[in-house]
Amino acid sequence: MIDLGGVCALTLARRYGTPLFVYSAAVARDRLEALRRAFTRREPLVCYALKANPNRALGRVLARAGAGADIVSGGELARAARAGFAPSKIVFSGVGKTENEMAAGLRAGLLAFNVESVEELEALARTAKRLKLRAPVCVRLNPDVDPRTHPHLTTGRARNKFGLETAAALALYRKASRDAHLRVVGIQCHIGSQITTLDPYRLAAASVARTIRRLEEEGIRLSFADLGGGIGIAYKDEKPFALASMARVLEDAFAPWPQMRLLLEPGRYLVADAGILLTRVLYRKKTSMRRFLIVDGAMTDLPRPALYGAWHPVEAVTPRRGRKITVDVVGPVCESGDFLALGRSLPPMERGDILAVGKAGAYGFAMSSQYNSRPRAAEVLVDGRRVLLARRRERIKDLYAAET
Ligand SMILES: *Cc1c(COP(=O)(O)O)cnc(C)c1O
Repeated sequence: MIDLGGVCALTLARRYGTPLFVYSAAVARDRLEALRRAFTRREPLVCYALKANPNRALGRVLARAGAGADIVSGGELARAARAGFAPSKIVFSGVGKTENEMAAGLRAGLLAFNVESVEELEALARTAKRLKLRAPVCVRLNPDVDPRTHPHLTTGRARNKFGLETAAALALYRKASRDAHLRVVGIQCHIGSQITTLDPYRLAAASVARTIRRLEEEGIRLSFADLGGGIGIAYKDEKPFALASMARVLEDAFAPWPQMRLLLEPGRYLVADAGILLTRVLYRKKTSMRRFLIVDGAMTDLPRPALYGAWHPVEAVTPRRGRKITVDVVGPVCESGDFLALGRSLPPMERGDILAVGKAGAYGFAMSSQYNSRPRAAEVLVDGRRVLLARRRERIKDLYAAET
């Protein structure tokens, strides 16, 4: 499921307790390298979308390997800085940046602000003026492309709240280019997440290219084009496109602008495969309809199954022999939607046994909650033979420490 380079998952579960996220530095580095290598005609700047997994130790691995960051809040700005991402490689996305967040980003000297509305541009200009700085502006284009993914993961349709349609984007560029406190630097678009076919990227890239051409006609030149994230992975039997094919699509679309830098903002692709969730069997239960393994991991730790009906691989870590049986792996939370996996064939497990839920490195811990007053899980980073407790398990008193 994941190669921990000889570090034993059972030992980790015993030492750090469960539920426990385990991340592999090697896998994250490997994905970053694979993405870079896919491009043959240019060197893209890969800005890791921190929201997929904001853990500092994991971020540090990617920052050291040369990645930039894509952030969506002031909190992520602080985390990106602590993880060691160079401000000159950080882009600030999101439809609702506050002026305080903008000010923090301006002081830090970020690469670009991806602007999504007229009012946001005005707020950015005002903030830059107040600080006597010039804000680097990228406009987020909404190309009205269907990424053919889960409806909740679609961001580039005209009906979505994200980005601006072409005419509005062009108007925003004109406004930005006239403002002394703004500096137009690029164009961005991000059409969705867990995209497994290339056509949406082809259409989005064509739309971005058309917009660049229109801007050039008006004398507005850009130094980079940012195609966002969204690269899908195989959780079950999805057949994602080859990275090399994606690279060809983008290199071809932007061939007329050899000087222009290409940016990408992958989150899931870099870290999903780099993480597993270890969880312990609390109880077994058999009803007239089904068999359940009740485990100590829940939708509060890994919400993707409950949120999207997502499928994650599940394996027995504790070796058990015997005929496999079909079980539902469910958590302790008081919701019928609280499951990690349904109808899985597993060897007969016993109380105290450890299971691993795979491909849990992206949008797992990042989306975790304390619902049902459950302290959040611990996170461990494995790097070669080194094991680092990257985040200690929350304690009961952490649950109410901020309350009065
Ligand atoms: C979420 C997001 C990403 C990353 O998406 P993935 O599907 O994880 O690659 C990139 N850019 C923006 C603006 C986002 O909102």
